[in-house]
Amino acid sequence: MKVFKFGGASVKDASAIINVAKIISLYQGQNLVVVVSAMGKVTNMLEQLTKAYYYKKDNAFEILDQLREYHHQIVQELFPDNKHHIYNEINNVFVEIEWAIEEDALREYDYEYDQIVSTGELLSSKIVSAYLNLNGNVNKWLDARDFLQTDNTYREGKVNWDSTQSIWNKDIMPFFNAEPKSANGKIMVTQGFIGATSENFTTTLGREGSDYTAAIVAHISNAENLTIWKDVPGVLNADPKWFDDTEILKHISYHDAIELAYYGASVIHPKTIKPLQNKNIPLLVKSFVNPQSQGTTIDDNPTKLPVASFIFKVNQVLVSISPKDFSFIVEENLSDIFKLFADYRVKINVMQNTALKFSVCIDFDERKTPELIEQLRKNYNITFNDNLELVTIRYYDQKTIERVTINKQVFLELKSRNTVQMVMKNRD
Ligand code: ASP
Ligand code: MG
Repeated sequence: MKVFKFGGASVKDASAIINVAKIISLYQGQNLVVVVSAMGKVTNMLEQLTKAYYYKKDNAFEILDQLREYHHQIVQELFPDNKHHIYNEINNVFVEIEWAIEEDALREYDYEYDQIVSTGELLSSKIVSAYLNLNGNVNKWLDARDFLQTDNTYREGKVNWDSTQSIWNKDIMPFFNAEPKSANGKIMVTQGFIGATSENFTTTLGREGSDYTAAIVAHISNAENLTIWKDVPGVLNADPKWFDDTEILKHISYHDAIELAYYGASVIHPKTIKPLQNKNIPLLVKSFVNPQSQGTTIDDNPTKLPVASFIFKVNQVLVSISPKDFSFIVEENLSDIFKLFADYRVKINVMQNTALKFSVCIDFDERKTPELIEQLRKNYNITFNDNLELVTIRYYDQKTIERVTINKQVFLELKSRNTVQMVMKNRD
């Protein structure tokens, strides 16, 4: 069994989906689970829709129409026969969203968000599955909510591994094991990013969570490997958006991959590696533009990266926290402060403490950051700088540090043996 994950860019329009079908055809004879994300920027649009609905802005139906039009366009291009059942299926999903947003929201934002935003993956997976069936890659559509069990932390569902594994064994594996084990292999198409609570409410696993779904599926099915198909030729040592001369990293250890993802390398979702590492399942990152090229392999090889890797994050806020009475920062303060960050589910990207001050660098979030700062102000003096950049260099040397800090004012620098992190801003 192999697991494939196709992200939003790889299914963003009709020709992209045709390309996905070509890639799958290269693997005839294999058992495959295909995990797909919502198409293109659909998740962002569904987030806008949720906001508009929840806060009673009048453009919710406008956004819904755009989404409907976007999917309809793709379906029309892929399915010339307008009697094909996919037209009905897609329409039904939209009718359900419409019904949902005609009523007032009854529950908390994160719950409503998951019920609406999860539809992006339902739509894309239905379209991809139907298109594959039409073109000889016979497959079964699988609702991820029928096996992927989470708790009820909406927008950040925690996987219930035991029940997920046992449902998979009982309900899904028989499909692959059933006779005839035809030479064609068997294919299932399912959604990334979504799951369900034990009460059958839809949850999501956090933005960009489809990689994580694919890793979960690889883990519970004891897959031979997981391939994430991307619009880049593999994992690069820096984001070409920020750096000129980037290199493909052919081979990365699980350890380095976890570190890179943790510091924000956007090619791999941070939660993706663990489920694979636990079963020693290799992760391949390959280009959907050049499916035959080698790409990157992440596995248990112990080699260190041959070159420095750079991870760049913008829109950072550096918050400095000090006790109001100029007393020292002590353990009780820290545990208070950490609890607040945990309650708001804000990830600390870098932290540093001195006797009088505790500094943390976080991603700016228009909803959470101002509230969190307000809460902190109750007990502490707070200063903060925003619009900062955070650069992390793994396997740094002095030259690489100089390269990224040209014309920058550095606010905070933290070095460990292999990694340096710098919070900085352009000098005016
Ligand atoms: N569609 C979701 C998102 O854009 C999940 C994913 O693409 O991984 O966040
Ligand atoms: Mg996406």
